[in-house]
Amino acid sequence: MEIVQTGSWGFGEGPLIIAGPCSAESEEQLMATATALKGTGRVSLFRAGLWKPRSRPSSFTGEGFRALDWLRRVKTETKLPVTVEVASPEHAVACLEAGIDAVWLGARTVSNPFSVDAIVSALQGCDIPVMVKNPLSPDLDLWVGAIERVYSAGIRKIAAIHRGFTPYDKSRYRNLPKWELAIELRSRIPSLPVICDPSHMSGKADLVPETAQKALDMNMAGLMVEVHNDPAHALSDKEQQLNPEQFEKMMMSLLFRSSTSGDIGFINHLEELRNRIDSIDHQLIGLLASRMRISEEMGEYKCRSGVTVFQLERWLEILQSRTVHGISEGLDSEFVGRVIRMIHEESIRCQDVVMKRLNLAGGCPPAGNDGEKE
Ligand code: PEP
Ligand code: MN
Repeated sequence: MEIVQTGSWGFGEGPLIIAGPCSAESEEQLMATATALKGTGRVSLFRAGLWKPRSRPSSFTGEGFRALDWLRRVKTETKLPVTVEVASPEHAVACLEAGIDAVWLGARTVSNPFSVDAIVSALQGCDIPVMVKNPLSPDLDLWVGAIERVYSAGIRKIAAIHRGFTPYDKSRYRNLPKWELAIELRSRIPSLPVICDPSHMSGKADLVPETAQKALDMNMAGLMVEVHNDPAHALSDKEQQLNPEQFEKMMMSLLFRSSTSGDIGFINHLEELRNRIDSIDHQLIGLLASRMRISEEMGEYKCRSGVTVFQLERWLEILQSRTVHGISEGLDSEFVGRVIRMIHEESIRCQDVVMKRLNLAGGCPPAGNDGEKE
């Protein structure tokens, strides 16, 4: 895919900073927020939700089509370009007619390929940018699928927005960030800019700056931040919205690091560190391969002795001893646990393959002594 980078969308160079309220609530609220945001000089694009996809029907569902006129006023008076969430072809057509500068597809919409199809047909060939939030669940294909649908409608100004995923357990975040999934998305579509929405991830205003910094450290192409002139009285997402002063303070404290440096000393030292990492990874792969070959040999041995692949006591002993060793080496115990579980799972799989093969060839005695020590 050949995607136009955010710096060439006409909203300024550098990271794309989108800010504005969760919902457009009144003309006064929009004008007050937009004027304050313009004053910070840190905003590329002003956001507002007109049609709000709420979990409960009794919640505020947005001011709808009439708020497009308010956004037109924001545009004319503050000169900030504006962006809106579209959830139906009618929204898309109305936004194009109203001269909205960019649109985005929300997490709920992206979860439904029929909705995405209907919206992109209405946007077919348009020149405005279309941003695609991640779906509610961490399903990379669903996210990529929505981006492909937008692309196949001839749209080339595209970005993905990482806004986190619905947690199933109690969590610090309203929506769990999955940075590794965003990295995988960037590896699948290298020209795709990915920005972050730390507001919907955090769910509370005081966590937003930390999450935004993390996103910048992950080299995201920009931020979408919810900012309201009076968050305490917001009609939606009041907990997570910053006021314009908090937004400005956050923008001044964020470190916008460069993904590279022209300094030759830096480049050489980084190269040396990367060489060391490459060499260790090479050894790790070799060691894993040796370990799996032993597993296969063990699978054959167990099979010939009529013993099961899995022995609980041995597994518990492996997990315990490797975790203790890992901790003594300064590694995180959870990390060691995850790695050793994966290795063990693969080892069981390798042994299983060997056993099945031998069984098919009639090479193993019938099960009798199951060897299980549970
Ligand atoms: C929003 O941006 O206000 C919104 C509804 O976001 P999401 O689709 O990420 O829930
Ligand atoms: Mn919101």
